[in-house]
Amino acid sequence: MARVYNFSAGPSMLPVEVLQEAAEEMLDYNGTGMSVMEMSHRSKAFEEIIESAEQDLRDLMNIPDNYKVLFLQGGASQQFAAIPMNLMKNKVADYIITGQWAKKAYQEACKYGKANAIASSEDKTFSYIPDCSDLPISEDADYVYICHNNTIYGTTYKKLPNTKGKILVADMSSDILSQPVNVEDYGLIYFGVQKNVGPAGVVVVIIREDLITDDVLEGTPTMLKYKTQADAKSLYNTPPAYGIYICGKVFKHLKKLGGLSKMQELNEKKAKILYDYLDSSELFKGTVVPEDRSLMNVPFVTGDADMDAKFVKEATAAGFVNLKGHRTVGGMRASIYNAMPIEGVEKLVEFMKKFEAENK
Ligand SMILES: *Cc1c(COP(=O)(O)O)cnc(C)c1O
Repeated sequence: MARVYNFSAGPSMLPVEVLQEAAEEMLDYNGTGMSVMEMSHRSKAFEEIIESAEQDLRDLMNIPDNYKVLFLQGGASQQFAAIPMNLMKNKVADYIITGQWAKKAYQEACKYGKANAIASSEDKTFSYIPDCSDLPISEDADYVYICHNNTIYGTTYKKLPNTKGKILVADMSSDILSQPVNVEDYGLIYFGVQKNVGPAGVVVVIIREDLITDDVLEGTPTMLKYKTQADAKSLYNTPPAYGIYICGKVFKHLKKLGGLSKMQELNEKKAKILYDYLDSSELFKGTVVPEDRSLMNVPFVTGDADMDAKFVKEATAAGFVNLKGHRTVGGMRASIYNAMPIEGVEKLVEFMKKFEAENK
């Protein structure tokens, strides 16, 4: 068996221990004589799986009791519509555009009300986070929306925007569980799990209870109404059961490793190895302003598209895969989520040094 170092932005690496456990339980989960894939979502065994997944996520993130946790389908992109449908009571919302995912969310919200792009970093290919200390927040905004970590561009908020009392809504698809979060700073946090948690097919919504109401936009599908899902404890219809089971295993795994402070420590250590090298290299350079650099997604370039392609090709052959950057940034991107071991980053940097020496 040869595992590669997979630097994909998503779906991405999962902890080997979790994959092994899932393999062991594939044919017979916990004495049930069946796989979790074959199990009724109304069974006792699955009830226990989803309940302990929720409890472990609550423990990890210290989620207050007045927040609900929903395990849903449709990916992060489905939430681009669900959020305005559920939260736009005044039909006004303010969006901070720091990348393609925030922009897509904004464009979707425009269908349902007056979405305002109150700040953007598009002028410099989203290579920084705009100053959000005194934005023109709309008087009647139902919420302010951010994408907390910009997967494609490799930027992240080191300080939350001043929302002037409005509810903050955040897409944390690519940095959830990478560091502690103060959930109370947000009205709603959501994440597609396939970046830092589990297999594609699950999106988790953490929402303050008072925001879950019957007062949703006219025409909101039953399935997209948070109240439907909250009342049914995420079991209104058949949930993405196997995905939830794997997420639960990852939550347990992170607890065992020491929780989110520990993950932050590890992630900072990993990212530093790569950024320090990029800052000292004469061949490679990072594309993001240092103060807004992501711990999870690290884009870099040589400045020469042919050299970039040569690097990606040789890296792939050496077992460092999925390093090609997003087409809008070019170059390379190393996604170093929770499950990427520190050796993976150390070895990548070793390989980059060797490549640099050979290509002077
Ligand atoms: C990947 C990603 C998305 C889209 O996720 P889907 O589950 O494919 O819809 C949205 N936001 C961010 C920040 C992402 O990284």
